[in-house]
Amino acid sequence: MSFEALGLHASLVKAVAEAGYTQPTPVQAQAIPAAIAGRDLLVSSQTGSGKTAAFMLPALNKLANAEIVQARTTAQSAQSARAKGERVRFTAAQPKMLVLTPTRELALQVTSATEQYTTDMRRIRAVSILGGMPYPKQMQLLAKNPEILVATPGRLIDHMESGKIDFSELEILVLDEADRMLDMGFIDDIEKIVAATPASRQTMLFSATLDGVVGNMARRITKDPQTIQI
Ligand code: AMP
Repeated sequence: MSFEALGLHASLVKAVAEAGYTQPTPVQAQAIPAAIAGRDLLVSSQTGSGKTAAFMLPALNKLANAEIVQARTTAQSAQSARAKGERVRFTAAQPKMLVLTPTRELALQVTSATEQYTTDMRRIRAVSILGGMPYPKQMQLLAKNPEILVATPGRLIDHMESGKIDFSELEILVLDEADRMLDMGFIDDIEKIVAATPASRQTMLFSATLDGVVGNMARRITKDPQTIQI
């Protein structure tokens, strides 16, 4: 089984080869084709299984297919306003993809993996929105209207509630290590964030376990999901 056979764009196949991946891991072999086909996913897998690429590669494939007209238009009008010497009003960021993670460390890992996979996809940017990072820096990142946000739930809620992020254009929602996010008490924040996203989104949830509270939430926020147990 090759990455090409999973249905990924040539630029992604090239990126994983450059990362030194010779073949998909078991979670990637199952998750990538299902996600490319548009399915929601519930995946029980551990850290180290290659789960980041299992959600990021099909997501990038989808974003590469979509025309990112909205983001470009916003950036171009800001640029022309600046060229005319007008003050640029901050409009809310409208990400296409959101990855929620329990910790800053995991968010940074996901963002750096994304940068590695998108070296040939210049238009697609990922930024981390994290607790403990200075607000002015985060405002600068959001002002660039990145296609992908990787965030811890608490800080994301702050930006959402102050109108800095608009999820009406969101196409893909990922909950990474969902069981850990619930253990850390993020359930209300997650519910609020999910409620702000379109029902038409594609949702992928990764967790060490799909039992109990996490299973209940998983079933509530996904539609006809494919379950993958590694
Ligand atoms: P993750 O489970 O996403 O934290 O990934 C664990 C590690 O495996 C990361 O360092 C990845 O770069 C690496 N990795 C992911 N997919 C593959 C693959 N198909 N072949 C070799 N290494 C991989």
